Amino acid sequence: MPDTDDPAICPGCGQPLPPQVRADAVYCSDRCRMRHRRSGVRLTEPRGPTLCSNCLKPIRSYGRVHRAYCSAGCRQAAYRARKQAAN
Ligand SMILES: [Zn+2]
Ligand SMILES: [Zn+2]
Repeated sequence: MPDTDDPAICPGCGQPLPPQVRADAVYCSDRCRMRHRRSGVRLTEPRGPTLCSNCLKPIRSYGRVHRAYCSAGCRQAAYRARKQAAN
């Protein structure tokens, strides 16, 4: 559990957020936000490839079918993980 008194760390530059940013701010500045979004791996870009929900590899699209996973194995793994989380 993170201590709420600790300043959040900017994912863009790794520095603690300055106290004057908004309470829900994630980045210390617009520059960090834009830079991190461009190089970010976890964030899906609107025009980038769809990432597998299980292993986060880019999914090759087959026609117009929307796929959430890169393979049947990943789909099953995610399904099993969901079932385990429900227990
Ligand atoms: Zn920053
Ligand atoms: Zn996958």
